[in-house]
Amino acid sequence: MNILVINAGSSSLKYQLLNPETGELPAKGLCERIGIDGKFTYKPQVEGKQVLDAIDVAMPTHSEAIAAVLDILVDPVDGVIKSVDEIDAVGHRVLHGGMEFSDSCIIDDEVIKAIEKCIPLGPLHNPANLMGIRACQAVMPKTPQVAVFDTAFHMTMPPKAYRYAIPKEYYENDDIRRYGFHGTSHKYVAKRTAELVGKKNFKMVNCHLGNGSSLSAIKDGKCMDTSMGLSPLAGVPMGTRSGDIDACVVQFICNKYNMSVDDCLTMLNKKSGMLALSGVSSDFRDLGDGADKGNEDCKLALEKFAYEVAKYVGAYAAALNGIDVLTFTAGVGENDGLVRGMVCDYLGFMGVKLDPELNKSRGKEMVISTPDSKVQVWVVPTNEELMIAQDTAELVNAAKAK
Ligand code: ADP
Repeated sequence: MNILVINAGSSSLKYQLLNPETGELPAKGLCERIGIDGKFTYKPQVEGKQVLDAIDVAMPTHSEAIAAVLDILVDPVDGVIKSVDEIDAVGHRVLHGGMEFSDSCIIDDEVIKAIEKCIPLGPLHNPANLMGIRACQAVMPKTPQVAVFDTAFHMTMPPKAYRYAIPKEYYENDDIRRYGFHGTSHKYVAKRTAELVGKKNFKMVNCHLGNGSSLSAIKDGKCMDTSMGLSPLAGVPMGTRSGDIDACVVQFICNKYNMSVDDCLTMLNKKSGMLALSGVSSDFRDLGDGADKGNEDCKLALEKFAYEVAKYVGAYAAALNGIDVLTFTAGVGENDGLVRGMVCDYLGFMGVKLDPELNKSRGKEMVISTPDSKVQVWVVPTNEELMIAQDTAELVNAAKAK
């Protein structure tokens, strides 16, 4: 089975052709500068096929971008499939499913309307995701399309976790509540961890630590709480996002500097976090290098990050009445033993014991705790595209079986 996984942004579109059963990845790539000058990248993962790196291809809209993707995938020389009919379905990443979607679903007119309804909650991403969906419908009208939402995995949270303590009318009239993001990654890691530990019923905290970071408290595979909120700004500090912050900071800055709320939020999303604390970079590799050279601001950025991540782990361990497993994933979680070590140093009180040798590992699926650690600590590399492909295949196969 071949699933085309699409992640459409406003001027870009990432694609992967994947086999959901084996995880095999015949090709992937990226369309950039859609609506501007159009740059096309194609990375076949099969021997002897030519890589295209940011070549000029006219892409006035997402439709031409998808057409270019299909053209190269079926190219007689450099393609990896013979015809578009070999693509069984398309799985689209959609950022915000609001209260409309608690699971992935096959796209029809009703689903498109519901995704449109969620635009106020995901004003930047949902319109772009819809452009990707409409472009695929136009170019491959017979192929089933599935929407996989970044928020859906978190819809199992109880009200005490998702409600904000503000007047009820904002929840009832405007759907203002905690939603959470990175849901596809948290779902993948939860599912994979259950396979690795060989149990279905257990309690875990997953730390998705990348450029954007979020933690989820997960019981028996279901999300009980998560650190991001109505938007991805909430939770731990991130590469360029502040994370949780007293709302009065916004009021103070807007009043004092005559700044609009939108501009202040752009500052909190794009110029804050590790970038702001270090004054050097949002990239954790640069922070590590800086700290090694004695840069105190880089040290503070790393210390703040590890401290806040550990506080969330402690809070979620309390929320779940103890945890069995702690997992690390995404760019930092998978690769940065220093950060993992700094986080786990705070967690000795609950019996977390890292093996320093195992913790040196990078990017590999493995246990990094000692055999006598009360909580098993794992590195589980995430694979959002594979999760999207698996959800898509499952829905399409179920529909066929009906
Ligand atoms: P995104 O949120 O953009 O998907 P990623 O999950 O790819 O982000 O994570 C990007 C972050 O991972 C960057 O800050 C990068 O520095 C960090 N990272 C990647 N590889 C390493 C590494 N080997 N050591 C430390 N940090 C790393």
